[in-house]
Amino acid sequence: MNFVSTNNPAHRVSLKQAVLDSLPPDNGLYMPERLPALDAGFWQEWRDLTFQEIGLRVAQAFFGHDVPAEALRSIIDESLSFDAPLVEVAERQHVLELFHGPTLAFKDFGARFMARLMGWLARDDASMLTVLVATSGDTGGAVAHAFHGVPGIRVVILYPQGKVSGLQEKQLTTLGGNITALEVDGSFDDCQRLVKAALLDSGLSGQLRLTSANSINISRLVPQSFYYIHSARLLPAGVAPVFVVPSGNLGNLTAGLLAERLGLKVEHFVAANNRNDVLTEYLAGQPYAPRPSRATLSNAMDVGAPSNFARLLALFNHDHAAMSRRISGCSVSDEQTLAAIAEVAGCHHYQLDPHGAVGWYAAQQWHRAHPDSTTVVLETAHPAKFAEVLAQVPGIGPVAIPDRLASLADKDKCAIPMAADEAAFFACLRKLPSIG
Ligand SMILES: *Cc1c(COP(=O)(O)O)cnc(C)c1O
Repeated sequence: MNFVSTNNPAHRVSLKQAVLDSLPPDNGLYMPERLPALDAGFWQEWRDLTFQEIGLRVAQAFFGHDVPAEALRSIIDESLSFDAPLVEVAERQHVLELFHGPTLAFKDFGARFMARLMGWLARDDASMLTVLVATSGDTGGAVAHAFHGVPGIRVVILYPQGKVSGLQEKQLTTLGGNITALEVDGSFDDCQRLVKAALLDSGLSGQLRLTSANSINISRLVPQSFYYIHSARLLPAGVAPVFVVPSGNLGNLTAGLLAERLGLKVEHFVAANNRNDVLTEYLAGQPYAPRPSRATLSNAMDVGAPSNFARLLALFNHDHAAMSRRISGCSVSDEQTLAAIAEVAGCHHYQLDPHGAVGWYAAQQWHRAHPDSTTVVLETAHPAKFAEVLAQVPGIGPVAIPDRLASLADKDKCAIPMAADEAAFFACLRKLPSIG
C-alpha cells in the first residue's frame, strides 16, 4: 500500500519511506492511500479472537502488502506483550486501562510497534538509523524503551534539564546500549528546534541517517486502533460503545476513527480536552484557532496546535458537519479534573490519573444527556505517574507504585549535558559511537 500526504494526494510514497521519513516534505502528514476495511469473515469471529490476533488482522489490513505475515506476527507478539483490561467502574461506564506497558502510558503501544516495524523495514540497510526524539517527559521514555535493543537503530533523546519529573528522567537515562540521553540546558521548545534543525541539515544527513519518532508517524498511529476493537469485543454482544478519548495531539482519537472505518460499530466519539480545547471549540462551530498551550494538571494533553488535526480533516473530507456528527468535544478544567478523581475514588474505589479523569468528567456529561449509552473512557496513564497531582485530592489514599517504576529509583542516571545550540548538538551527534 502507498501513503499520501494530507496536503497533496499526488505525493505518494512507499510504506518504508512514509515510516522512515515520518513527514512528507510539504508539511502534511502521511495517510494510507486507501483506508482498508476488515472483511465480513473477520466481523463474524472478532469477539472470539485474542488481542494479538486482532492486532495482527488490523496490521495486515494496513501493512500486509509490504510486510510478510511471519514478520508482522513477531512484530505484534513483541509489541502487544501486555494486556489492556476493560474495567466497569460504574454501570455501563467503563475504563480501558492502557497503562500496563513498560512506561505506564498508552504511548507504549504505538512506540513499540513503530520500533519493530522500523527495525524490519531497515533490516537490510547498510547504515545505522539514528532516531531523534525531543521530549517533555512521557514520549521519550516510551520511545527509549520501545527501541532498546532493536538492531540497526540507535535513539538520541533530548530533554530539558530540570523540567521532567525524577521518575521520567530515570526512564530516559538508565537504559544504556543503543539509547543516548542528552540533557539540554534549555526548554522543551529548544529540544524540538534542535531535532528539526538536525533533520533539515544537509551536511549532517550526508553523514548520518536521521529520522524522528514523534506521534505524527503513521506507524505509531495504526497500532492504537487495535485496542478500540479489542475493548468493544469485551462489552455485551450488540452494544456499540461511546469512546471517550482524553486528547492532546489527537493521535489516539484518529486511531479510533480508523477502527471505525475498519468496520467497528461505534455509537459516538467524545474528545475530552483540558483547557487546551481548540478541537472542542471547532466542533462547537467556532473557527479552528491553534494557539500556544497552557499548563494544566493533565500535562500530556497541553497542546495548542494538535498535529493530527490534519488527519481528522482528511478523514472527513474537510466537512465540519460530518465531523461534528461523529465527534463531540468536551472541555474540562483542572478543578473538574480533581473533582472527578475524588468522586471516582470515593464512590467507586477506583484511582484515575488526571488524563483519565478529564475523560471521566466528559463521559459523565455524555451520560447525563444520553442515559442509555455505554461509555468507554481510555485511561492513558497509570495514576502512579502523577502521584503529585493525586496528593492534592483530599481523601485519596497513597498511590501504589508498580514495581517497574519503583525499581527505577535505584538505577544510575547516564546523560550527556549539552548547551541548547545547534553546534553543540551536531558535534554530539558526530561523536556518537557506532553501536554494533
Ligand atoms: C500523549 C498523551 C495523551 C494525548 O494523546 P494524543 O494522542 O496526543 O491525543 C493523553 N494522555 C496521556 C497520558 C498521554 O501521554
